[in-house]
Amino acid sequence: MLLWLSEKVEVLEFHGALSVRSATDSFQLPAVLRLNRYIHKRYVNRVRFCRENIYMRDKHTCQYCRVEFPYRQLTLDHVYPLSRGGRHNWTNVVTACGPCNNRKADKTPAEAKMPLMNLPVEPKFLPSVQISPRFQALPNEWIPYLPKLVPG
Ligand SMILES: [Zn+2]
Repeated sequence: MLLWLSEKVEVLEFHGALSVRSATDSFQLPAVLRLNRYIHKRYVNRVRFCRENIYMRDKHTCQYCRVEFPYRQLTLDHVYPLSRGGRHNWTNVVTACGPCNNRKADKTPAEAKMPLMNLPVEPKFLPSVQISPRFQALPNEWIPYLPKLVPG
């Protein structure tokens, strides 16, 4: 409310039935806000480079055989092998199933004739909070602004 009244945000949607009262006025309760100023990128955390996030970037899919596996059957593969000077970073590490990882061993994808499904990149964003459409408190006013929710 303070951000709105001091014009730091613009209200795009209001909660239909809800309002708040001051001594003299009544305000409809904002549901969706837009910041009037761009928040500089340096305040945004980079996605942490870790096993879970690499699997998530690759959608739990082996980047060689293109099959989705449960977490415990996945491994990390260094595209350009560590043993030959490959780096341990976003652009050299991909999700692989155990058999593909063993088959590739310390070869490059070209040498192993195992082309990558996607070129590995550093993700800008990974959804850390999943909003379920079954979450009862999810206001209708938010729906148009959220990524497409998958029913079920
Ligand atoms: Zn595989």
